Amino acid sequence: MSDPAKPKLGFVGLGNMGGPMTRNLVTAGYEVTGFDINRPLLLQRAQEIGFHAAEGLADAARRSDIVITMLPNGKIVREAALGANGIADGLAKGSVLIDMSSSGATGTAALGKELAKRGITLVDAPVSGGVTGAVAGTLAIMIGADDPAAIERAMPILSAMGKKLFVAGSLGAGHAAKSINNYLGATNLVAVAEGLIAGTKFGLDPATLLAIINASTGASGTSQGLYPNQVLNRKFGAGFALALMAKDVGLAAELAQDIGMDAPQIALTAKRWARARDALPGNPDFTEIVKLLEADYGVELKPRKA
Ligand code: NAD
Repeated sequence: MSDPAKPKLGFVGLGNMGGPMTRNLVTAGYEVTGFDINRPLLLQRAQEIGFHAAEGLADAARRSDIVITMLPNGKIVREAALGANGIADGLAKGSVLIDMSSSGATGTAALGKELAKRGITLVDAPVSGGVTGAVAGTLAIMIGADDPAAIERAMPILSAMGKKLFVAGSLGAGHAAKSINNYLGATNLVAVAEGLIAGTKFGLDPATLLAIINASTGASGTSQGLYPNQVLNRKFGAGFALALMAKDVGLAAELAQDIGMDAPQIALTAKRWARARDALPGNPDFTEIVKLLEADYGVELKPRKA
């Protein structure tokens, strides 16, 4: 049952992350109106989770005090916010828009200025923790905003979806932190693959080598989580699209450029992920970049004993 004392929420983007995040909001007692351009997905989620399905962006906003976006990128968020019959057309003055997508920090700061002219406050609150964290409601959330009152309004809502909440700084700071974090995750994924491939070529069993790394100083969240659970067991289904990871690393490269920093490691990681995005067909999971590296070196990271 929804709690009438809580603000009414709109939620735009009900994909891999938005679906489970919405479920946690409904469970926490929020009345939610959802919207997604994928209408069959919208209707399915609305029925399964128990929220109202909006007819469009402005309709979702009109029914809401606060709107959350969980969309593929900042360009789409901007269009959803400011486009004709968009979120800003439906939100009343004094409302808050929380962008939880992994958008670009500079674009977010610009969008915030335009929304402010229409009396809407933008908060950026991107997440980390993947689909598992979204389902469990344990996401890390990095918050950026220029208005402390808007952060105060957002906090209880964000607490229903995440467990580790950080106020990162002014508007766009959350998005900056997120792109830097994902650059590190993306670098780790490729670095561990190269290490395991080199070891396997030398004659080591990749599972033994991974166990050694994971008990040693080379260990990382990637080597301890993704490699046993997604890569060595050939599952390759973490629920995060490779194209989205390539976008995130690209945003870290853009950030470096915007602040006038020469960052060769970020540039290299961005280049490698852009290549993987262009080389792999379909809509691969981000862990499948390992398959491309395996093909490059002619080695498959198969444990000797399954
Ligand atoms: P997804 O592709 O599964 O979901 C995005 C949803 O947005 C889709 O259902 C799509 O139909 C919808 N959409 C696209 N354009 C729209 C529009 N104009 N109006 C309404 N709906 C629209 O992506 P996801 O994995 O849920 O990721 C969402 C965001 O979260 C991305 O910015 C991603 O980088 C970030 N993120 C993802 C993960 C992950 O593990 N999947 C982790 C952290 C952050």
